[in-house]
Amino acid sequence: MSTKVPHRLAILFDVDGTLIISGGAGADSWRLAFDELYGIPADIGKFTDTGMTDPDVGRKTFEAVLHREPAPAEFSKLLERRLHYLHQTVRESKHYQVLDGVAELLPKLLAEGYLLGLVTGNLEAAAHIKMHRGKLNRFFSFGGYGSDSSDRAEVTRIALRRAALVFGAELGPERCVVVGDTPHDADAAHAAGIACVGVASHNFNAEQLREGGADWVIESLKDGLPQAALA
Ligand SMILES: [Mg+2]
Repeated sequence: MSTKVPHRLAILFDVDGTLIISGGAGADSWRLAFDELYGIPADIGKFTDTGMTDPDVGRKTFEAVLHREPAPAEFSKLLERRLHYLHQTVRESKHYQVLDGVAELLPKLLAEGYLLGLVTGNLEAAAHIKMHRGKLNRFFSFGGYGSDSSDRAEVTRIALRRAALVFGAELGPERCVVVGDTPHDADAAHAAGIACVGVASHNFNAEQLREGGADWVIESLKDGLPQAALA
């Protein structure tokens, strides 16, 4: 019996729009945190865009509604309140969902010998709070997060270094593939030397993802990842 040694070894998944949809829980938690601390129910959607990391979202929104930069202690308090409310908003979200195919695909990839990680703009704790409701945290033994860098390419490189720590061996970018739902995911993956599968399950359709640079595009994770992306 031959042991399968896949060319690709690690698969890095984006969180929001790729594995789960939080149904607005992220924005709701920021609004509640700003409202409690400053009496302003700030709408992050007005001041930030989807590719930004959590620390950038918090800082930009703070500056927009309070017209100054947050002091470090204020910012740390804001992040604490935001994570506090995120537990509640994820739990109560009516439109939270684990996206099609995810619950079947993750155990299958593990069984086939792939290493699974996360690469996301969420603060590390925020990613885990969002994934907890779908019982998905257990599949991921490493990751790069918005709390590691505001540059998503650097977040991706950090995810690879974390994989090396967990598995005890260096992991080159050519042995990885990123799976994400936006052109930002493809840009960050490419900047780190990694190929990207675009999943047209949420904000972007297949054509937009193809134009945005994804190396392969699929409609959802229901039929698994393209063989060529795993070979
Ligand atoms: Mg996403």
